[in-house]
Amino acid sequence: MPPEVMRQLCAHLDTFEAMTCHEIRLSVELLMDTGRRPEEICRLDLNCLTRDSQGKPVLLYDNWKEQRLRRQLPIHEPTAKLIIDQQRGVRERFPDPPPSQLVLLPGQVLNLRGDRSIDSNHLSAMHREWVESLPDFVLDDGTVFDKEKIFPYAYRHSFAQRHADAGVPIDVLAELMDHDNYQTTKTYFRVKEVRLREAVERVTNMQFDRHGTRIWGAITTVLDAERTRRAVGAVVVPFGTCSEPSNVAAGGGACPLRFRCVGCDHFSTDVSYLPDLRSYLDDLLRQRERLRSMSEAEDWARAEAMPSEAEITRIRRLIQRVTEDVETLTEAERAEINRAAQVVRQTRQNFLGMPRIRQPLPDLRPERPA
Ligand code: SF4
Repeated sequence: MPPEVMRQLCAHLDTFEAMTCHEIRLSVELLMDTGRRPEEICRLDLNCLTRDSQGKPVLLYDNWKEQRLRRQLPIHEPTAKLIIDQQRGVRERFPDPPPSQLVLLPGQVLNLRGDRSIDSNHLSAMHREWVESLPDFVLDDGTVFDKEKIFPYAYRHSFAQRHADAGVPIDVLAELMDHDNYQTTKTYFRVKEVRLREAVERVTNMQFDRHGTRIWGAITTVLDAERTRRAVGAVVVPFGTCSEPSNVAAGGGACPLRFRCVGCDHFSTDVSYLPDLRSYLDDLLRQRERLRSMSEAEDWARAEAMPSEAEITRIRRLIQRVTEDVETLTEAERAEINRAAQVVRQTRQNFLGMPRIRQPLPDLRPERPA
């Protein structure tokens, strides 16, 4: 579903609750936020929220379709808060049974023990009624979006598309979707994105930390939830990505180091940023020469404006390490990575602009506080 449609749906969530019950409305919010299948959301346990080793929220759910139980999905804090509030409400409504026997979204009728969940067919029916009651969904180009295409399972496709558009690697996206096979995951986003996705995969295979050490290929043993979070918990900054939590939460606008990324452990980059690194280095060198020959400024002002030797050295070293790594590839691999980097750069320039900061990845509902 296009972002404009999602925005309009989110804006009308309160009217949905007025038509039905809180649990049905909440199930739709969770579908939007997590991309799980309707059955997986409807049947969540009361104890479906945990925290990873960094204290970040993780949803525990059962993949009924594949019969894989206790799956983990990293989620945003606002989504975790929805769950925590609901857990409190369920405990008040059913104070006697132990929490392990309760469900997160208990149905309204014939449910004295709180162990019967809302029904996904009922959810679909109520959702259809709600969508039909809403005004037309007018897209940015003035056309009207077909309401028939708005149904609970479509939120799963939107979730996949949103991550694919943001450049989340296919292996991570497959994990987020809990697919065994990348081919299945690829059917969840638009075909025209596939070329870009493949390019993104290639360049992220050549990712480096600030010292120029390759990192992505080595991430094979971290916990699923941590690995996927690593891919989604980042914002684009000049020359690479930043994973500093407060900066990510602020959409890249709250860097405590004033974007001295090459001196920061939260920074990583990939081959597609090589031209940006080179032109930044050229800028620094030019700026240094200009300041040296400038006589109409006081010493302290010139000293403060002067690019630091340490930064220049670091950037030189980073460029050298990345370039050396690319040179270890065969000619055919090099040509492929260059083509991929070009595609990724083109997209970045078209959609993001350089070196502006991109919004944080995948929160569908940016109007909510982080
Ligand atoms: S210096 Fe760069 S990587 Fe470090 S917190 Fe700031 S923006 Fe993020």
